[in-house]
Amino acid sequence: MIKKTKIILLILTAISYIGCKKSNIETTQEEPLNIILMVGDGMGLAQISTAFYFGEDTPNFEQFKNIGFIKTPSTSHTITDSAAGATAFSTGEKTYKRAIGMSKDSLPLPTILETLQKEDYQTGLVSLTPITHATPAAFYAHVKDRDLHEDIALDFIKSNVDFFAGGGLKHFKRRTDKQDLYSELLAKNYKLDSVKLSKFNINKKNGYLLAEEGLPSKTEGRNSFLQDATQLGLDYFTEKGKPFFFMIEGSYIDWGGHAMDAELLKQEVLDFDKTIGVVLKYVKKHPNTLLIVTADHETGGVSIGKSYVIDEETGERSEEADSVSINFNNDQHSGTLIPVFAKGKDSERFQGIYENNEIYHKILNAIHHK
Ligand SMILES: [Zn+2]
Repeated sequence: MIKKTKIILLILTAISYIGCKKSNIETTQEEPLNIILMVGDGMGLAQISTAFYFGEDTPNFEQFKNIGFIKTPSTSHTITDSAAGATAFSTGEKTYKRAIGMSKDSLPLPTILETLQKEDYQTGLVSLTPITHATPAAFYAHVKDRDLHEDIALDFIKSNVDFFAGGGLKHFKRRTDKQDLYSELLAKNYKLDSVKLSKFNINKKNGYLLAEEGLPSKTEGRNSFLQDATQLGLDYFTEKGKPFFFMIEGSYIDWGGHAMDAELLKQEVLDFDKTIGVVLKYVKKHPNTLLIVTADHETGGVSIGKSYVIDEETGERSEEADSVSINFNNDQHSGTLIPVFAKGKDSERFQGIYENNEIYHKILNAIHHK
C-alpha cells in the first residue's frame, strides 16, 4: 500500500515538474525584449580605433561578435547630419538633413519610442547635449529644423519619456515665450533634478537637466556622468520591471572631429567605451536585452597614421616607430560606412551591410519575432 502511494506521488511530482518547466519556457519566450541603442555621434572606425591605441585596457568594443556596417546618406545630402541620421534610426525612414522625426516630405512620422510606449514599454534618453538636441530629439519630436529647440522642448513635455538625463535646462526654464516647461514637467509627475544625478523616485518619471546647454566635455573636466546616468536609468527600468527602450548618446565624439581636436576625440571615445562596459554588464545579467552600438556618421575624415617627431634644429622629421597620430581630413562630417555592434538576444540580425534606417526595422522585427 505504501509502495503504491509512493509511486503515485512520484508520478504526480513528475507531471507537475514537467508542467512547470513548460510554462517557464513559455513565459521566457514571451517576455518582451529590452532595447538599448547607443549612438556615438560622429564615431567612425578610426575614432573606434583610437580606443585600441590610446586606452589602458582592452576596449569593450572587442566584446562584440555580431558586427555590421551602415550606409548613412540622407535623402537631400550624401553626407548626412545628426538630425537625418537619428531620424533614420528612430522612424525607419531616411529624410532630409536637419529634419527631426519628419519624413522627406516634412510629415511627422511615428518614432520607435512612441510606438513602443503604446506597447507598454518604458522609455529613456541620455545625452551630453541638450535633451532637445538633434540625436535625442529625433526620438520624440517632429519639427522641420533641428535648431527649433523651443518647439522641440514643447514636443518633449508631451512625450512622457520615463527617464532622461542631459542638458538643455534653458529651453525649459528660460524661454523666449516665457512658458515654464520645467514646472509643467513637475505637474506631469516628474521628479526633476538640475544639480546632480540623485536617486530616482520609483513612483515617478525622472528627469535630470544638469546644464543650461550641453554638459562639459571630458577635456573640460566632465566626470563619470555618462556611465552614472546610464546605470541609473538601467536601475530604474529594472526596478520598475517593465520592458524598456533606452537611447544613450556619446555626443562629443562628433565635437572632437569638428574641432579637429585629437585629445577631445580620444577622451570622448574612451568615455563612450567605458559606458558600453556598463551596458554590457547589464546585458550579461539580463539576457533578454538587445544592445546596438552605432553612429549617425563619421566626423573629421579621421585617419590613424604615422607619428613623426621634428628635429628643432634641422627641421628634419623622423618617424616614431611605436606610435600613431590622429589625423583629420577636415572639420566636417564624412560619408564612410559606419560600424554597428550588437550584443544580446537577436544580435545576429545586425550582421551585414545595410542602410541606416534598417536599424529601426531590425529592432522592431526582433521585438515582434519577425
Ligand atoms: Zn556634427
